Amino acid sequence: MIQTLLDEFSRRFGPGDAPRRFFAPGRVNLIGEHTDYNGGHVFPCALTLGTYCAARVRADRTLRLFSLNFPDAGVVETTIDQATPLPGGSWANYVLGVVRAFTDAGHALPAGLDMAFWGDIPAGSGLSSSAALEVLVGTALKGLFGLRVSGTEIALLSQRAENDFIGLSCGIMDQFASAMGKRDHAIFLDTQTLEYQYAPLALTGAHIVIVNSMCKHALAGSAYNDRRAECERALAALRTVRPGLPSLGALTPEEFDALSGAIPDAVCRKRARHAVYENARTLDAFDALRRGDLAAFGQLMNASHVSLRDDYAVSCGEVDALVDIAWRCPGVLGARITGGGFGGCTVNIVSDAAAAQFTETVRREYAARTGLDAQIYTVSAGDGAREVLE
Ligand code: ADP
Ligand code: MG
Repeated sequence: MIQTLLDEFSRRFGPGDAPRRFFAPGRVNLIGEHTDYNGGHVFPCALTLGTYCAARVRADRTLRLFSLNFPDAGVVETTIDQATPLPGGSWANYVLGVVRAFTDAGHALPAGLDMAFWGDIPAGSGLSSSAALEVLVGTALKGLFGLRVSGTEIALLSQRAENDFIGLSCGIMDQFASAMGKRDHAIFLDTQTLEYQYAPLALTGAHIVIVNSMCKHALAGSAYNDRRAECERALAALRTVRPGLPSLGALTPEEFDALSGAIPDAVCRKRARHAVYENARTLDAFDALRRGDLAAFGQLMNASHVSLRDDYAVSCGEVDALVDIAWRCPGVLGARITGGGFGGCTVNIVSDAAAAQFTETVRREYAARTGLDAQIYTVSAGDGAREVLE
């Protein structure tokens, strides 16, 4: 596929020096959902699926962008100094947002670029193709212009692009996982301090299987903001009995249970309980993986789903059906919703011996229950963003 990308690059941008090639992966979060904006931990891994670009520095300040995933958009032509998003929700805004974030952070970009992109992250599947694209651009800028910027900084600048240029107030997880991934490892990240540790993802005889429900309910965006506001109200109430409490993620479940009566609103109390207990599950999941205890890890994933369904109320009938079907399949160690919610994907740990039957059962039963065709991807944990040298 890299060859197709290089051919397309020559076709669109003409002869010249061979372009350099870069790659950035998508990600899946194994556990630690809706904890990132509550000062808690997340536990994602980067995937081997991802996005590639071929890029060449120009003699002027023109910026020309083409994506094999959006061929109808043609070559988008602007300049490296473009300061505002292009109209019409162009995909190129993800690129321009990162360029802008680098410039604003004081990284002088000395010239324009020709860039061609292609990626194999399934569209709209919740595996964060947007973060992959942003981190890819950051990695290319670093490589092409010899910038002194760390992986963590590339992740932060990419997050800024998504927050400020695209207008989506996401946390740091997706960009961090794409920038800092490590093959066969998951990343245990403290979203408050950005301290992180790798845990070996030794899934002996098992794989991560992502199942896309192929549904996305319209309320996803507003409900995300509602959940954030409910958690903030719960935190404010807890501060009346625990002054200076920095975040929900700072409480153990025992501390929370002792204090939770201070939250007058039952809904806010449930949201906060999820944030606190999910953070504790994520700490336990890190320990379980380090011990190589996959069964315990899977149980924590299952408990995470119950909490997201009942306390945080971000699941939906279709996704609950997928998880329920998975829980009944032999050889499934754990299954839960992953990503923002209200549709999207489930993440499952499935033993290789049971994989074929799992796929068959999920397809058949999900179609029977919902009339939808689930998309199923078996994935592996891969390395973070890098220049492709081979
Ligand atoms: P996801 O869950 O995959 O991150 P988003 O809606 O956040 O979904 O981001 C998807 C958007 O990112 C696409 O609509 C497109 O604008 C941009 N994008 C992702 N990958 C590519 C690519 N390979 N080429 C061009 N644009 C891309
Ligand atoms: Mg995205």
